[in-house]
Amino acid sequence: MKIFKFGGASVKDAAAVQNVAEIVSLYDGQKITIVVSAMGKTTNKLEEVVTALSQKDRKNFTALVDDLVLFHETILGELFHERHFAVYAEMEAIFEALRLRFDQSFSDNYSFEYDQIVSIGEVLSSVILAAYLREKGFPAVWADARKLIRTDHLYQEGNVDWNKTESLIQERFLPLFSEVNIQVTQGFIGHTPEGFTTTLGREGSDYTAGIFAYCTNAESVTIWKDVPGMLNADPKYFDNTVKLDQISFKEAIELSYYGASVIHPKTIKPLQNKDIPLYVKSFLDPTASGTIIQKNSENDALIPSFIFKNDQVLFSFTTTNFSFIVEENLSDIFSRLSKINAKINLMQNSALDFSILMDRSKINIDQVLELFKDTYSVKFNEGLTLITIRHYDQATIDRVTENKEIILEQKTRQTARIVVK
Ligand code: ASP
Ligand code: MG
Repeated sequence: MKIFKFGGASVKDAAAVQNVAEIVSLYDGQKITIVVSAMGKTTNKLEEVVTALSQKDRKNFTALVDDLVLFHETILGELFHERHFAVYAEMEAIFEALRLRFDQSFSDNYSFEYDQIVSIGEVLSSVILAAYLREKGFPAVWADARKLIRTDHLYQEGNVDWNKTESLIQERFLPLFSEVNIQVTQGFIGHTPEGFTTTLGREGSDYTAGIFAYCTNAESVTIWKDVPGMLNADPKYFDNTVKLDQISFKEAIELSYYGASVIHPKTIKPLQNKDIPLYVKSFLDPTASGTIIQKNSENDALIPSFIFKNDQVLFSFTTTNFSFIVEENLSDIFSRLSKINAKINLMQNSALDFSILMDRSKINIDQVLELFKDTYSVKFNEGLTLITIRHYDQATIDRVTENKEIILEQKTRQTARIVVK
């Protein structure tokens, strides 16, 4: 069985859904699990719905829900020409339940409320896609990930209970393939032991594809995207990008760790553990080869990859008594940083100071200054960019740092990391 993951952009309108059916038809007769995300920007909209609910803002709530209804109804109208299809009634029931939420109590557990509401984006898209595939003559059924993926109670960032999930998928999901070729399920969502809905973190649908692959011993996973595969840089920041034809699981994990955003970082490990290849292919050019991520690392170093992180801030700490930075200071600095959940992108120390680089958007500068002022003098430098180059040489470094001031540079055998202004 193959796993296909279709993200929000691949089901953003009726033509896109029709295109998904065309792709599926290229695999006629094969067993396929389809993991689908919410349509287009639905998840962002649903996040606004949660905010409106928490603020008891009826006007905004109603306007947002009306928008979502119209968006989905327009897609349905183009896909199904007669309103008697059951999918209309299913959609109406989902939106009716959402509207009723306004007059129900909104608990103190924001993340819990978030998951109960935001998860309906994936339910809607999967119901629509399954119905459309059936309408086109594919033997497809809808499968409820809220009965298959078991998590703990960490709403918004559910941790998967792998043993339980594996047995649920083996018992409730896999056997159906003896009767149908296609099962359509939701990315991003799961459930607690009590049956409440959880989500796996934003952009978590790739991860769902990895979970299903692991638990079914799938032959492969394909993530269908609007790019031809994994590129060696983000085309938004870089001209002349090159497609990586083949890289190893390890290389893919490294690239996503440094910030390459093509695949959700948690997706690869379960595939690597079971040696299940991952393809990244274009839904606009489905027969093109794309990228294959697998065990073999022979080709990893063929092409340098570039990852840019903009809007970085570099903090430098020195002790106010001008003593050296020693292990005690480091442990003190880290424990203070962990109190504010700081995520460090890079660090460096010298005799007298210790520097850390963080995303400006994830940190409150005043809070950092306040937190350290009793023992350290803290300086910071904003508006920086962190450039990571995998498999670099001096020429590639020179090229990306041309006309830029280099603030800091770190190199290992495979990776160069340069902070520039
Ligand atoms: N719909 C969810 C999100 O936008 C999950 C996903 O797309 O992967 O975050
Ligand atoms: Mg999405």
